[in-house]
Amino acid sequence: MSAPRDDPSSLAGLSAADLAAAVARGDRSATQVVEGSLQRARDAGAGRDGLNILLYEDADAASRDHGTSVGVAPGPLFGVPVVVKDNIATTAMPTSCGSRILEGYVSPYDATAIVRLREAGALVIAKSNMDEFAMGSSTENSAFGPTKNPLAPDRVPGGSSGGSAAAVAAGIVRVALGSETGGSVRQPAAFCGVVGVKPTYGRVSRYGLVAFASSLDHIGVFGRTVDDAALCLQTIAGFDPMDSTSRAEPVPDYRAGARSASKGNDFRGIVVGKPKEYFPDDLDSRIREKCDAALEHMKQRGAVIRDVSLPHTGLAIEVYYIIAPAEASANLARFDGVRYGLRIEGHGLRGMYEATRSAGFGAEVTRRILLGTYVLSAGYYDAYYRKAQQVRALIARDFSAVFDSGVDLLFTPTTPTTAFPLGAKSDPYEMYLSDIFTCTANLAGVPAMSLPIGRIDGLPVGGQLIARHFGEQGLFAAAYALELALGEDALR
Ligand code: GLN
Repeated sequence: MSAPRDDPSSLAGLSAADLAAAVARGDRSATQVVEGSLQRARDAGAGRDGLNILLYEDADAASRDHGTSVGVAPGPLFGVPVVVKDNIATTAMPTSCGSRILEGYVSPYDATAIVRLREAGALVIAKSNMDEFAMGSSTENSAFGPTKNPLAPDRVPGGSSGGSAAAVAAGIVRVALGSETGGSVRQPAAFCGVVGVKPTYGRVSRYGLVAFASSLDHIGVFGRTVDDAALCLQTIAGFDPMDSTSRAEPVPDYRAGARSASKGNDFRGIVVGKPKEYFPDDLDSRIREKCDAALEHMKQRGAVIRDVSLPHTGLAIEVYYIIAPAEASANLARFDGVRYGLRIEGHGLRGMYEATRSAGFGAEVTRRILLGTYVLSAGYYDAYYRKAQQVRALIARDFSAVFDSGVDLLFTPTTPTTAFPLGAKSDPYEMYLSDIFTCTANLAGVPAMSLPIGRIDGLPVGGQLIARHFGEQGLFAAAYALELALGEDALR
């Protein structure tokens, strides 16, 4: 029996595009949509004492200006509820970055991505939990407690955008925003069985994204499906004068492109590279099988699968964990008790800085600041930071060389494991290894996406597609076709 038309919970099954059409037709009101999403959040136990997915909710999201002005055609996300990571600035809710130091802080402006969502008609209903300042791979580093994976509540959702991934997995929303510095959208997408996209560096404005490591930071999107993610990304992408690293390349219609490219023989003429460094001998054999099955689907539909090599991949984790903390140590210097959030008085100005930062930052953030300060200090700069920048250039060159050799896309596992149990990784280095297949795309700035390709013992496995700079169109086309080809296999 189908749900009654005015039952807000019946919105759960509609794609973002179909929901926008339904609201534009007047089948649903924006208020019903917001109520429906927040009701689903309650039903899923998404609050702080449950799965701990959402930190702040905006029950009045429907009453805010969201492209409803009279005379304006409804936007592509008209009436579509969206959950946004807690490090993306919003005026209607706090932006605390999962940190005590910014607890309750409300930004005086909206991030460009938020402005674009709202102009497209979207309803920003909640801020999601995250690892403090996006440092982590499990959302256990949040000052507000860990998020639990809605598919297996004894496990992590991945991180650092774990709350946004979980919000989509729990059916609260079809689309969500996250951020990526080394894999923080793709890795939780893989762990939660949803689609996660990190666009090209410069494709989406970072204005209003609280900086972690500026040369690696991106805003990314989650979708229940490839189509949902495509719609969300094309809404927020494009040049922004407020971000000097944003780029002016025109934004294609990713959705339309994906649909037309995948008619007929989906992968005909596409060369898919299988980089050997992402399929090491000790890769979990079950993850390898899922990847091979996905590659076989592509091959059957006309793809040419080519073994390739990205020889500097093995250095990526070390390079990432020098550059990211170095940039973080500079970016986080602004949280000193003077301008933002928490202030704890001490003896004099220095005492106030010490007391505020000691109380405000958690252990992982403190570790990164110390590490970053060390690698930037005189005497170590050349040995660590400069060297890491040189190796970073080699990693980027690996990608250019492969794409220049006629490879259209790369296919890899997104993560070396499925979602691990809460508390399982107490050694920071072990946690860092979660990013082994993802941080390379951030170092090179190339676009990459994770989509569900199967399950192991009920836990989702993500497959990663990587393209050349501004190759999002090709990513979406391939991912859309692969999603169709896999069908129910993605859930098995
Ligand atoms: N897990 C990585 C880190 O801890 C990546 C985080 C991210 O992409 N924001 O730095």
